[in-house]
Amino acid sequence: MNILVLNCGSSSIRFQLIETDVEQIAGNTDRRLARGHLERIGGEAVVTLHANGREPERLTAQLRDVRAAVEFIIRWACSEASGISEVQSVADIHAVGHRVVHGGERFTHSVLITDDVLRGIKDCIDLAPLHNPANIKGIVAAREVLGAGLPQAAVFDTAFHQSLPERAFLYALPYQFYRRHRIRRYGFHGTSHRYVAYRYRQLRGISREETNVITLHLGNGCSAAAIRGGDSVDTSMGLTPLEGLVMGTRSGDIDPAIVDFVSAKEGLSPQEVETLLNKQSGLIGISGLTNDMRELLAEARENNDRRARLAIEIFCYRAKKYIGSYLAAMGGADAVVFTGGIGENSPEVRALICDGLVWLGLELDEARNAAHTQGREGLISLEGSRLAAYVIPTDEELLIARDTVRSVRGIPQRF
Ligand code: ADP
Repeated sequence: MNILVLNCGSSSIRFQLIETDVEQIAGNTDRRLARGHLERIGGEAVVTLHANGREPERLTAQLRDVRAAVEFIIRWACSEASGISEVQSVADIHAVGHRVVHGGERFTHSVLITDDVLRGIKDCIDLAPLHNPANIKGIVAAREVLGAGLPQAAVFDTAFHQSLPERAFLYALPYQFYRRHRIRRYGFHGTSHRYVAYRYRQLRGISREETNVITLHLGNGCSAAAIRGGDSVDTSMGLTPLEGLVMGTRSGDIDPAIVDFVSAKEGLSPQEVETLLNKQSGLIGISGLTNDMRELLAEARENNDRRARLAIEIFCYRAKKYIGSYLAAMGGADAVVFTGGIGENSPEVRALICDGLVWLGLELDEARNAAHTQGREGLISLEGSRLAAYVIPTDEELLIARDTVRSVRGIPQRF
């Protein structure tokens, strides 16, 4: 089946076209046909299109809204100019898989989208006011452009973490807030954590039940997950993606009293403080330079910039603390898995996070660590290390495509 994977944001869409089916999933022979990125939808959009085996194209196009953008993607995919031989017409697109940010407590798995599911996604808007409306627009647009008969699946960022036990997902707030307002830890990046845990068990040749790992997704957004017996049992992001690790522009964990304190001292509204915690904190807040880890590492190396060094240090220290706390929470793990732009590409950050963890059995192999960048997957700890470390590039789109196939074929979703 040719699956169109859509990740719709408020003014941007990322897409991939992936050919996969039951046998291809089993044999790991899925094929990526094309991918692309459309930014600044609503006016003169900036578009990158990349069909497999061809040079990427960059262009601008007048795209008024999400529907126009989805139409544009499909027209391009079917055109001769794109050169995708597997897709000649709309009939060659067999299903659409959507990344949906928030599935609340209702969606514990990926599902085929019906009117009732769409209502369920709408019901979660108050939990993800920026993301879910954009995801809904994408679903409606794809339905309008490709027809209501074409199967569409929703794959939720929160679903994998629905296995968290109460002790991990409940905040120590008055209990009625959970009952009344559904305030609890949901966690995000679930598709990524689930994918790398699945790849880990493939690499090791072990079963899902034997999968006991801590996964660190370190990208622009960052989160950790404790995965025991294949299930997520704890994760660092909370009601929103603001909690947990230090991120590019987000603070991660802070004393909640700081919100009121900053609000009073700086004369800001609670909303403004929340924006500050989401957009002007983390790496950019500490360094005063950038949210881009690569640039921070260069500043620290080349100019010995004190605040760049500090930002990197705090980032790595927080991640290390999460490893320690999850090991305690899980009663030990077999491996730490690094993924996301930083986790996949920065031996330096990985070494800083693992530094000083020999006492609990994590011994990094310097040469292996240095060699695993740019999508190279594998072990980066010493052979006999009691707690292993791996780099596993994430592939959320592949998992979305596979879940879409499974949803269409009515196959239970295992990872
Ligand atoms: P997103 O969360 O938006 O998908 P990515 O997973 O692509 O983001 O991660 C982006 C982050 O990865 C940025 O901070 C970027 O600097 C960092 N990154 C990418 N390549 C490297 C590298 N070679 N060394 C260090 N950091 C890198």
